Amino acid sequence: MNILLTGGLGYIGSHTAVELLDAGFDVVVVDNLSNSDIKVKDKIEKITNKKIKFYEYDLRDLEKLKLVFNENKIDAVIHFAGLKAVGESVEKPLEYYENNLFSTINLIKVMKEYGVKNLVFSSSATVYGRAKSMPIYEDFPTSATNPYGRTKLFIEEILKDFELANPEFNIALLRYFNPVGAHKSGLLGEDPKGIPNNLMPYIARVSVGKLKELSIFGNDYNTKDGTGVRDYIHVVDLAQGHLAALRKLEQNPGLVIYNLGTGVGYSVLDMVNAYNKCCGGKVKYKFAPRRPGDIDVCYASPEKAYKELGWKATHSLEDMCESTYNFQKNNQ
Ligand code: NAD
Ligand code: UDP
Repeated sequence: MNILLTGGLGYIGSHTAVELLDAGFDVVVVDNLSNSDIKVKDKIEKITNKKIKFYEYDLRDLEKLKLVFNENKIDAVIHFAGLKAVGESVEKPLEYYENNLFSTINLIKVMKEYGVKNLVFSSSATVYGRAKSMPIYEDFPTSATNPYGRTKLFIEEILKDFELANPEFNIALLRYFNPVGAHKSGLLGEDPKGIPNNLMPYIARVSVGKLKELSIFGNDYNTKDGTGVRDYIHVVDLAQGHLAALRKLEQNPGLVIYNLGTGVGYSVLDMVNAYNKCCGGKVKYKFAPRRPGDIDVCYASPEKAYKELGWKATHSLEDMCESTYNFQKNNQ
């Protein structure tokens, strides 16, 4: 089977490419390198000892996208490509709507034209907005609090309408919780440009002395230690969730929605303490005011994915921290 990964050189896409290649799939990647590096292609190939076919194209370029489908017999698509920084999306909403929505619309148009009917889409727990209770189930109401989240919400709606009108399509909306961690080789991981916004890459940079200290945003939340609680999931577990979703789509289920999380919430302090055990206490921190827009607690019910996909996360908090530290040390 030949799987097209859009955004396949990015953080989650690259880990998924490795899992797919290891499982015997062929992989074609389209990525415009706006948030990734061509070196990632060599790293994927080094880890797996297999080749991928790569196109440095922008998904907004419809004609180029058609070329990819012309040159390759694609069996299914995993659509990772998109802009993903919440803060930036508030400053540049049109860029986010243009990039994320136009890319997706082009992609499904071309898939329809070429008769490629199975699609996995990278959605996010952000579509639950401020959920009324925990854990979060897939049938909870959706809403968005920023333009990035709205692109995910809009794309989910577009895909639902598209699937209604084209019932031969099978679409999995995967709502990721908080992906962290890195590949055990130390070659692949999350390496954001500039100062990281997310917790784990920030901790990682503090642990190697690239940043001075972590600011913990809020210690007065209604949680066990006052710091925010999230459902952190190892990126390799997440990658394997995509293989499970592809298998599900083979059964012609129509449109399906799954949370990909662990079901366990860890606080910022839990994460810092676990990380400090791995790196020998190098992560200094101070408490700072809450970050606007943040919620106190967010964790998934991963039950539906377990029941219907036979998938569940297996990596521990320690695995998440160790692999991140290993990657960070390797990539100075
Ligand atoms: P990433 O930025 O590392 O990867 C996205 C890739 O898409 C990048 O390599 C980028 O160059 C490429 N890209 C962006 N726009 C493109 C375009 N128009 N044409 C071609 N390529 C394009 O992000 P990631 O963390 O791997 O996330 C993958 C997907 O998962 C994204 O859609 C993101 O919104 C979603 N997601 C991520 C998280 C997270 O915390 N990392 C959480 C929930 C959902
Ligand atoms: N966080 C923090 N300091 C940082 C970055 C994040 O204290 O420098 C906290 C944040 O307030 C939240 C948790 O870490 O409680 C996870 O934040 P992240 O941005 O990684 O994910 P999201 O908020 O999107 O779930």
